[in-house]
Amino acid sequence: MASRTVSCRSRPPGHCRWAAWAAALVLGLSAAHAAPPMVPAGKTVQLTEQVYMIPDQGVPLVPNVGIIVGSAGVLVVDTGMGPANAEIVLNEVRQITDKPILYLVSTHFHPEHNFGAQSFPLSTVLIYSTAQHRDVLTKGEAYRTWFIDMFGADVQALLEPVKLVTPDVTFERRAVVNLGDLPVELLHFGYAAHTGGDTVIYLPEQKILFAGGLTPNQGFPIVPDGDSSVRGWIATLDDLAALDAATVVPGHGQLTDAQVMQRVKTYLTSVQGQARDLKAAGVALADAQDRLYTVFTQRYPDWREPDWIRNAVELSYAEADAAN
Ligand SMILES: [Zn+2]
Repeated sequence: MASRTVSCRSRPPGHCRWAAWAAALVLGLSAAHAAPPMVPAGKTVQLTEQVYMIPDQGVPLVPNVGIIVGSAGVLVVDTGMGPANAEIVLNEVRQITDKPILYLVSTHFHPEHNFGAQSFPLSTVLIYSTAQHRDVLTKGEAYRTWFIDMFGADVQALLEPVKLVTPDVTFERRAVVNLGDLPVELLHFGYAAHTGGDTVIYLPEQKILFAGGLTPNQGFPIVPDGDSSVRGWIATLDDLAALDAATVVPGHGQLTDAQVMQRVKTYLTSVQGQARDLKAAGVALADAQDRLYTVFTQRYPDWREPDWIRNAVELSYAEADAAN
């Protein structure tokens, strides 16, 4: 893909910060030879006897997809972007089992995680946290438009057929579904973090956590707009750590363990504290962003997408006024 001009006109209304995400993703897509962001077929890996993951293979705009198989049926975590990707997910499920897909859950409303629900059988129960449902209703169409505008023909072909689907069930903070012999916890912790409605899927018996955008592995946390929250993210990580997970499936990136929660918290807490100090000292936001970009790229030289440091600083500046 030729380099694409990223401007503040190409964003959801009111959020110039999005340009940084677009820049990072466009660079990523360019590096991937601008192939359409497709969930890989035939690459599904088995984590335990009943739990599988379709890995993103490092492709931008492709999520890690979860497939959980109980004695009564299946729960799928995240859809891929658009019905073409969801069809690949459905086919991967069929390679594993012919049991019914009882439930579909997404970790958050971003298009690659959520915008394929229409392809699932009518009998599949779609479950959202109420906060995620609110994100879909208030921002879903804007994201479709913005993604098409920003990422071009490949993404347009994936997103134009999307119909945003009304959930069958919503919950506030916690729901438990039982796949026959396998309880699955669905949790929203009541804070905005990566998005307003981040939802995690936890298997308490296997200690496996599908954490979506909350636990970037070797990448800087993505705080895409004013609906994200550094403070809320830190609080959410404390709740996630209390789950006692052993294996963490991030929304993107390689499989990891519970240490990822502490790594992300250490980073966010440090950004928050240093931004607060700089603001209190009267340092202009742009200067603080430059200083802390240097600090954190030196501290985490191997992490992907360092442009997100600037957004975390900006959000921390905004949140500092209400500091506790
Ligand atoms: Zn996301």
